[in-house]
Amino acid sequence: MIPPLRIYNTLSRQKEVFEPLNPPFVGMYVCGPTVYSDVHLGNVRTFLSFDIIYRYLQHLGYKVRYVRNITDVGHLVDDQDAGEDKIARKAKLDNLEPMEVVQRYTNGFHQVLEQFNILQPSIEPTATGHIVEQVRLTKQLLDKGLAYEVNGSVYFDVAKYNEDHHYGILSGRNVEEMMAGYRELDGQEEKRNKVDFALWKKASPEHIMRWESPWGPGFPGWHLECTVMSTKYLGERFDIHGGGMDLKFPHHECEIAQSVGGFGHEPAKYWLHTNMLTANGQKMSKSLGNSFLPHELFNGSHELLDQAYSPMTVRFFMLQSHYSSTLDFSNEALQAAQKGYKKLINGLRILKRLTFIPADDTAQNEKAAGQVNSLCDNCYRAMNDDFNTAQTIAHLFNLLKKINSIHTGALSVTELGEETFLRMQKTFIDFTENILGLREESNVKPEDLIDALLDIYRDAKENKDYDKVDRIRARLKQNGIVVKDMKEGIDWAYEE
Ligand code: AMP
Ligand code: ZN
Repeated sequence: MIPPLRIYNTLSRQKEVFEPLNPPFVGMYVCGPTVYSDVHLGNVRTFLSFDIIYRYLQHLGYKVRYVRNITDVGHLVDDQDAGEDKIARKAKLDNLEPMEVVQRYTNGFHQVLEQFNILQPSIEPTATGHIVEQVRLTKQLLDKGLAYEVNGSVYFDVAKYNEDHHYGILSGRNVEEMMAGYRELDGQEEKRNKVDFALWKKASPEHIMRWESPWGPGFPGWHLECTVMSTKYLGERFDIHGGGMDLKFPHHECEIAQSVGGFGHEPAKYWLHTNMLTANGQKMSKSLGNSFLPHELFNGSHELLDQAYSPMTVRFFMLQSHYSSTLDFSNEALQAAQKGYKKLINGLRILKRLTFIPADDTAQNEKAAGQVNSLCDNCYRAMNDDFNTAQTIAHLFNLLKKINSIHTGALSVTELGEETFLRMQKTFIDFTENILGLREESNVKPEDLIDALLDIYRDAKENKDYDKVDRIRARLKQNGIVVKDMKEGIDWAYEE
């Protein structure tokens, strides 16, 4: 028996059997990127982790509505309450319209995710497209006495909320301690308490991204967009909410407070947090200056790289660790991943060509069939244990040994029996391609292959082996290539 899917819920701090609120439908919300600069490899790790979850839930037969937002309101550099609008700053620097900045980095984000074979979400809403909803929720929180307005800005009143609820429930913090831990308000602050957070901020005259509101021109606080977009598309209660660990506090804590305050209950049944990609033990981040951009990996241009690495090598490298562990970036690990990925893909190619043709003189081998069946079970067991891709890969490598044995003739398909053989084939393909999302990636250039063939053609011509010459000509022609015998040398052209 394979145990059911269990997920580590960061809210309850334990693994729980996954029971969606409204099966077979599953609502999943993941905090998306801020679009004022390129996504780095750390961001990719988080979106890849949720890609695996999305793919596996669908494989299990759930109908998943996956919502991942785009944070395109500028917010501010220091935190969401003070400093300069990041998008406006970038726009000024590059002489662009703010929405041009947003579009440029949104396009770049999509392109990067496609290179890593990360599926698109079902809905990708933007913060700027949901200002009306954000104003509405701010009003609701004001009406309930959980927020207050000061000088055109509106803040969430954490102390008030904490009288009846627990602000800090997700991150395990205590409000009194937090308040004591913060420096005194400096007198210039509008907030009643340092822990309070902005729902709406008044726009200063130079602030470009601004909208009208009952409190005057301004822009929404960061935490609000995720509350309104998740609940708009998934309902006030939905199944999964995810993001990187660094979003647990304050972002997700604030989302919970907004939902509990506004709608009377917590938004998500399961909270999932991915751990960080690190470089030399430090979180990879734009601000620390230790981040890799995907294209720097693909062309090997980053100073910390010994060589270039392909997107599928990097995908495989990331899947070799569990999403809740930190993962440290290293050349050695990437080189090992490159080998591992190629081994798996070679196995996949062999497997796809295998067919079940029973041999009369061979009997079924119950032991071999039993081993293959339990290896298939193990793949599910590992994924059902909180999406353990690292273990799944280890089981796939064990299956690969069986596939290679069949390929070399040490094991025959007849020994496995048709049912087991077909199960092995389906499981291996499902897991590598559909669940782990590894696709075949070839760096072979067609032109190089044509040149290699033309070398043989030239030799055959010199040796007057006209049969071979004709065969090469014919095979190339089948592929739309004509061989041109020139006065000097040989060339080719696309058939017109
Ligand atoms: P950002 O665009 O910075 O808001 O980040 C988008 C997503 O990437 C968030 O879910 C972050 O938690 C996540 N993230 C940022 N840095 C890393 C990192 N070094 N490793 C893994 N995930 C990260
Ligand atoms: Zn969010």
